[in-house]
Amino acid sequence: MTVASGPQSAEQWKFEAVRGCPVCQSIEAATVVNRTVRGFPLRFCRCGNCRLIYQNPRLTRDSLASYFSSELFIQDPHGDNLDELLGYPDYLDWDRSYRKTARLRLRRLTRFKPPPGELLEIGTATGSFLAAARSLGFRVRGLDLSSAFAEIARKRHSLEIDVDYIEEAQLPDSRYDVVCSFGGIACWRDPVRALANINRCLKPDGIFVLNHFDVDGLPGRILRDRHFEYNHASLVVFSKATMERSLSETGFDVVYSENERQYASLGRIAGYLKQGSVVRLFRALRLENATIPMIVPGTIFSICRKRAV
Ligand SMILES: [Zn+2]
Repeated sequence: MTVASGPQSAEQWKFEAVRGCPVCQSIEAATVVNRTVRGFPLRFCRCGNCRLIYQNPRLTRDSLASYFSSELFIQDPHGDNLDELLGYPDYLDWDRSYRKTARLRLRRLTRFKPPPGELLEIGTATGSFLAAARSLGFRVRGLDLSSAFAEIARKRHSLEIDVDYIEEAQLPDSRYDVVCSFGGIACWRDPVRALANINRCLKPDGIFVLNHFDVDGLPGRILRDRHFEYNHASLVVFSKATMERSLSETGFDVVYSENERQYASLGRIAGYLKQGSVVRLFRALRLENATIPMIVPGTIFSICRKRAV
């Protein structure tokens, strides 16, 4: 099986029903979000057995690659209408803060695994994290499902990026000292298979570094079904508990777990909180791109070691 070539137009995107929980396979589930966004269904349910929240129906395997590779995903022309978004308002605009965020992540990561070493990032987007890791002395490689993002990262930073699904990618056994995934794990079709694949490609003393949204955190509890995490890219919405269970079942021990730290632009913060009028105010004041360091409530940054067998 290969990744579908070229993005289809949005009208061609297809949805599929999910037969059971992507982690525990239970078919017992209750709906937690149910609405339509620009004609597309957006429905999430909570597994009655393991409490995982997952999107159902969701984009099919091929439509998912097409969606991530579309212009609409990277720069949604409906960016101002925050409840009607199908993609990012403007990912490229945010890239400056992502470069600074990369330094915060590397500072935490290198305490557990200093360079040099082999580092793989899953979900590389524009490549700013990989470029920063390379400048510290890591030998880097990337994997992204979006052929459009992969092309941007290759052009901007001369990076080696493979386009594939993390569940299906043929990764070399025991190759990497570090595997990273930031903001990507919610987008995986089969998290258990993906985590097992990552575990296999790590050296015995390798680390897996990730962040993920915690639905039980404060923003999740306040924004509830309007939360930004409920979008077409999020196939699975984890909590701290459901994430730790998935990691444990796939052979990882969490050795560090703290709140995520990021640089974020004022425009992005207002956008996440769905405050359209504040976004427009920041823009009028030319403050939307001003970045500030912040501890991100409800997002967890974890470092895991491969469990000895
Ligand atoms: Zn489940």
